[in-house]
Amino acid sequence: MKPIVVLGSGLAGYSVIRELRKLDRDIPVTLVTRDSGDYYSKPMLSNALAQGKDAAALVQTRAADMAAQLGIQLLVETEVRAIDRANKTLDTTSGEIAYDRLVIALGADPIRIPVQGDAAEAVLSVNDIADYARFRGLLGNKKTVRIDPSTSLRTEGFVEMRSSAGASTGSARTEVVIMGGGLIGCEFANDLASAGHAVSVIDPGPWPIASLMPEQAGRQLLAPLAALGVDWRFGTSVSRVDHAATGYLLTLADGAQLHADLVLSAVGLRPRIALAQQAGLAVNRGIAVDAHLRSSDAAIFALGDCAEIEGKVQPFVLPIMHAARALAKTLAGEETAVVFPAMPVVVKTPAHPVAVLPVARDAVGGWQLRANSDGVKMEFLDAEQRISGFVLTGPYAAERNEMSKQVGQRALPL
Ligand SMILES: Cc1cc2nc3c(=O)[nH]c(=O)nc-3n(C[C@H](O)[C@H](O)[C@H](O)COP(=O)(O)OP(=O)(O)OC[C@H]3O[C@@H](n4cnc5c(N)ncnc54)[C@H](O)[C@@H]3O)c2cc1C
Repeated sequence: MKPIVVLGSGLAGYSVIRELRKLDRDIPVTLVTRDSGDYYSKPMLSNALAQGKDAAALVQTRAADMAAQLGIQLLVETEVRAIDRANKTLDTTSGEIAYDRLVIALGADPIRIPVQGDAAEAVLSVNDIADYARFRGLLGNKKTVRIDPSTSLRTEGFVEMRSSAGASTGSARTEVVIMGGGLIGCEFANDLASAGHAVSVIDPGPWPIASLMPEQAGRQLLAPLAALGVDWRFGTSVSRVDHAATGYLLTLADGAQLHADLVLSAVGLRPRIALAQQAGLAVNRGIAVDAHLRSSDAAIFALGDCAEIEGKVQPFVLPIMHAARALAKTLAGEETAVVFPAMPVVVKTPAHPVAVLPVARDAVGGWQLRANSDGVKMEFLDAEQRISGFVLTGPYAAERNEMSKQVGQRALPL
């Protein structure tokens, strides 16, 4: 019997197999992945530094143990090169593999913004555990100063230390420039600054996480992260990265120059659609699938960061878990459409917690401020005055479950 073959050992790939095994222990499953196959929590990549965790500490279950627990054949460090739909086979670096049904869970690639300069290739991104190991290794090569931002006294000391260290000895800490002040950029900024590094965030937009949050909410992050030492620069972007005597010299679009020991790009992800596209599957931004996670080929499914489910790419943990549960049922023989509840995204910025239920870019309606004391509580009301999105920052972030229950309900009068 030919197996169900799953491509990719990230959250999407492993979750669908885990859910399937709850329903069927016997159906043969093969997982093919180009990485080590070790199971780790990707969201930890942007809050592990301040916790002092290296890449090894992030691994929750080794690949061999995953294979044994799930009762699957696991092919690691195996790249899939092509899908032959007519013969239902895969061309991989470990040879040909036949499938009965195929689940594509290949994730997404970091977007690279074109940058000039003789060190443009030095720009890093952290999208998997191997990237994190490399990034942490490079950070570790620099002397760092640990600070405790929990008291205002030390925070003042930190700010002063930063300028005096820069003036007298050159920088004592690693200077990290983050390209992109979106969700992931802000999380890394908080984490790096908390771990004692000097952080600048460069973003052409007007305020943090501007693609998901209205101005009043986004601006809430400015002061708390600045208090940790984050240097915000909006309305500009990195044009050049050149080698300097030590590290790099960055030239911004507005002509400003700044030094960096490391440059981290966090400008977004692009679903990995190339294999699907070459195989003739329907693709848009992601691999196009219906509510059953089924692609334009009835034997091929997709979920996770590579998938576009009924027109929406949702590269977050909760949508993946819901999709994995529905797909597992379908694979086990019970056709099941995924139904997504309200799924707020928690932004891991402990300096100022944020939870946001994003609204579509073209959503009709407007943001309403409901409360603002040490943070904001904002609701997005659609044309019928129903709540279809929200942003909660600071102390209000704790209300995300309560707010999620209200989604779809008519808002209370202002
Ligand atoms: C730094 C960071 C922080 C995040 N924080 C949060 C958060 O707090 N909350 C939240 O909800 N979401 C968060 N996310 C998003 C969330 O982690 C992702 O949506 C999710 O992990 C994606 O899982 P995936 O399985 O689709 O993709 P991936 O985890 O990227 O897995 C893709 C798999 O495909 C394999 N692969 C790729 N190409 C090939 C090939 N040709 N052949 C074989 N194998 C291949 C890869 O090796 C990998 O195993 C974060 C993301 C990042 C980068």
